[in-house]
Amino acid sequence: LLRLDEVTVRYGERTALDAVDLHVAEHETVSVLGPSGSGKSTLLRVVAGLERAHTGRVWLSGRDQSGVPTHRRGVGLMFQDHQLFPQRDVGGNVAFGLRMRKVARAEAERRVAELLDLVGLPGAQRRAVASLSGGEQQRVALARALAPRPQLLMLDEPLGQLDRGLRERLVVELRRLFGELGTTVLAVTHDQGEAFALADRVVVMDGGRVAQTGTPLEVWQRPATEFVARFLGFDN
Ligand code: ATP
Ligand code: MG
Repeated sequence: LLRLDEVTVRYGERTALDAVDLHVAEHETVSVLGPSGSGKSTLLRVVAGLERAHTGRVWLSGRDQSGVPTHRRGVGLMFQDHQLFPQRDVGGNVAFGLRMRKVARAEAERRVAELLDLVGLPGAQRRAVASLSGGEQQRVALARALAPRPQLLMLDEPLGQLDRGLRERLVVELRRLFGELGTTVLAVTHDQGEAFALADRVVVMDGGRVAQTGTPLEVWQRPATEFVARFLGFDN
């Protein structure tokens, strides 16, 4: 479904992504792990078309995405800093992408209610965004990203501000939901427990490069580099 061929993104002198190759198969959930500044958000942004690849190509469903604008890529992106619409209530935020896609009102309301249940905010449709805690806002942003059921869903630290108990519950529920909907997912996290629990495959980033990719078990049992081993917490 998604393929990157030697994609390089630079900000001035700084190389944020350095000749990255990556593929994500349909229905697969892939977690991107790595320390701060390793290029995780840049990777999602270049796939979404919010950043231009200086060299290399991004392919979605076999089509080269050079010059294709974000709204034509069929991808959903939940940002790290979630950016809800403050002037809309919770329901309006979650339904945003549905209205644009002309989903019928009854169906939209049904999906919004279902997703708010899923993220642990049942009945919150009419609440003002400003009245929510940071973690609650993050859950609304997650529901908003899921609502249009994009073919490729990209999440940047979707559970970053939530406490451990809620995170563990949501990881299980999300995995079930992705399976049910057949969603292909690329999810950034720097929590390895979350990455391993959520994903079929993990990608470990190091300084703009892919240090390793494999199933959680492979990466855990055979870290490809000393960096990966250290990042996973093997101090030897
Ligand atoms: P974090 O875990 O902190 O979110 P990240 O892995 O998502 O980190 P990126 O945001 O992709 O990292 O950034 C990769 C590199 O590119 C960093 O060195 C960062 O400083 C740089 N960078 C990112 N965005 C910009 C920008 N708009 N202008 C200049 N440099 C940028
Ligand atoms: Mg980031």
